[in-house]
Amino acid sequence: MTAPSPSTAAPLSAGPLFAAVDIGGTKIAGALVDSTGALAHRVQLPTPAQRPGAEVLAVVHRVLDRLAAAPAWGAVTAVGIGSAGPVDLARGTVSPVNIPGWRGFPLTAGVAAHPAMGARPVALAGDGVAMAAAEHWLGAARGTDNALCLVVSTGVGAGLVLDGAVRPGPSGNAGHLGHITVDLDGEPCPCGSRGCLEGIASGTAIARRALAGGWRPAGDDRSARAVAEDALAGHPVALAAFDRAAQALAAGIAATAALVDLRRVVIGGGVATAGPVLFEPLARHLDRYAALPYVRGPEVRRAELGTDAGLIGAAALCR
Ligand SMILES: [Zn+2]
Repeated sequence: MTAPSPSTAAPLSAGPLFAAVDIGGTKIAGALVDSTGALAHRVQLPTPAQRPGAEVLAVVHRVLDRLAAAPAWGAVTAVGIGSAGPVDLARGTVSPVNIPGWRGFPLTAGVAAHPAMGARPVALAGDGVAMAAAEHWLGAARGTDNALCLVVSTGVGAGLVLDGAVRPGPSGNAGHLGHITVDLDGEPCPCGSRGCLEGIASGTAIARRALAGGWRPAGDDRSARAVAEDALAGHPVALAAFDRAAQALAAGIAATAALVDLRRVVIGGGVATAGPVLFEPLARHLDRYAALPYVRGPEVRRAELGTDAGLIGAAALCR
């Protein structure tokens, strides 16, 4: 995992470059990316997530200003954007749950309108699809033609690699595993459905379940990270919260494997850093739910690209 660094100028290989922008609820990152996936001229600015949509776009433009000021900008052939979703590829719009000022926001057109863009094409993807594209190109899904790549953090996002290619679907949201129902009569979900995977397996859900079960953190951190620390130390309520999340993930993964015939599952995001307290029960529950011979035993791996997956994935969209 590489920590984001401010505007470094790592050497890029000769040849075409891509400009990559990764938009999330807390930060908007950018970099120039070469055909080997090397990143240079990194820039990162905070997302003014609670401000009007035009102000959020202005920050995206500031990121592009910095990239366009790099001498290598002339070699940039396309711009890729990975954004928190949902996205609508047909319209070029995004509606990130955690950026309320963007609802059906015309992000593709807004990026294309930047004065340095010229005629460069703009490729858009949701963050789960971008992560899948990155892990398939250079990370833990490399070398396999059929993979599900998940990001388990405050939410649960995912993307699919099928028959050798990332498959975003017509809207760009295919593989959005966080909002499949794994509990038929479960809790209502903000998406409008109920019993969604995200409502059980996200970091937010893990912390909520642990607290409801009587777990209390030693310090001020009441997040899934603190639950994970106590689970590693053997705290039964903390372990149970991770076990329940792993069970929901296993049900979702098994359903996906039955549907599209997976060979590999890649899991990233903050919750995956919990390590064995997530992956051990996940393997156990997968053994129960993934029963048919062709569904059994998909290889489960930790994601390899960390926080760079968004930028690398945005560039991968341009290839
Ligand atoms: Zn939902």
